[in-house]
Amino acid sequence: LGWPVAHSRSPAMQNAALQALGLTGWRYQLLPVPPEAFAETVRALGAAGFRGANVTIPHKEAALALATSATDRATAIGAANTLTFDAASGAVRADNTDAPGFIAALPQPPVAGSTALVLGAGGSARAVVHALLEHRVEVEVWNRTPERAVALARDLGGRAVELARPAALLVNCTAAGLEHPSSAFEGLPVTADDLSTYATVVDLVYRPGGTEFLAAAQQRGCTVVDGLQMLVHQGALSLEAWTGLPAPADIMLAAARRSSLPPTHELRSSPSATRRSPRD
Ligand code: NAP
Repeated sequence: LGWPVAHSRSPAMQNAALQALGLTGWRYQLLPVPPEAFAETVRALGAAGFRGANVTIPHKEAALALATSATDRATAIGAANTLTFDAASGAVRADNTDAPGFIAALPQPPVAGSTALVLGAGGSARAVVHALLEHRVEVEVWNRTPERAVALARDLGGRAVELARPAALLVNCTAAGLEHPSSAFEGLPVTADDLSTYATVVDLVYRPGGTEFLAAAQQRGCTVVDGLQMLVHQGALSLEAWTGLPAPADIMLAAARRSSLPPTHELRSSPSATRRSPRD
C-alpha cells in the first residue's frame, strides 16, 4: 500500500518467498492507494481475503492511527509499515519491522556503548534511531532541517547535532541520493573522504547499480550495507507475521537484486537508468 508504489521491489521478493515456502495459493500484490482512500481500503482488506499489508510512503502514520492494536515499537516510532488482519474480528494489528529489519541487515548487532550518526529525521530515521537506542548505542542525529532532528531526539532519545563527528556506524536515512543521484553528498554534512571515519556505513537508499554514497564508503575501506538488505529483512519479518513460517531471506535478497537490475534497454542507455528512483 503506497502512493505511488509502482517502483516497489517488494512483490518480486515476497512472491519469490511465497513460492519457496510452497504457499502456492498466496500472492503479494501492489495496491496504489491515495491518502483519501487509505482508511476505507485497509478496513476492507481483511474481509477481501488479505492476510496483511506492507505500508509505505505516505501512509505509515495513518496505518498506525487506524490499527486496533500496535506493537510497542510501532507506537514509539509513531509509524507502522506492517499490518496484519484478522478477518473474523475485523482487528488490524500494526507493527514496524523497519526497526528490527535494520538491525538484522547489519553484519553484527550493534555493541552497547558504541557510537552512531544517523542522517535524516523522517520515518525511516525514526525507526533506525529507535532500533539503535534499544541496543544502547550512543546516537547522534543530523537533519537538513535541524528542528526535525531536535524533535526526533525529544521524542525518541539520542542527541540532535549540527555537525558530523566520527562514529562506529553511519546511517544515511535521507533521500539525498535519490534527489541528486550523481551527487549523493549534496546537502549532507559529510564528504566522500569523511566516510573513512566510520567503520560501517549503511545507505537506506537503493538504486540499480548501487549508490554513489555506498561506493565511496566501500572505496575507503568501510564495511557497507545497502538499502536492499534492510528492505529484505523488514519484509522477511512481515512475511513471518502473516504466515507463521521462517522467511527465506537469501531467496528474497536474490529476487530483490534481480528486480533492481534495469531492463536491458535501460542498460544500453545509462542516463535513463540513473533516473530511476525506487522507494519503499
Ligand atoms: P521521509 O520521511 O520523507 O524523510 C526524508 C528525509 O530525507 C528527511 O530527513 C529529509 O530532510 C531528508 N532529505 C530529503 N532530501 C534531502 C536532500 N536533498 N538533502 C538532505 N536531506 C534530504 O522518508 P523516509 O521514509 O525516512 O525515507 C528516506 C529514504 O530511505 C528514502 O530514500 C527511502 O526510499 C529510503 N528507505 C529505505 C528503506 C529500506 O528498507 N531500504 C526503508 C525506508 C526508507 P528534511 O527533514 O530536511 O526534509
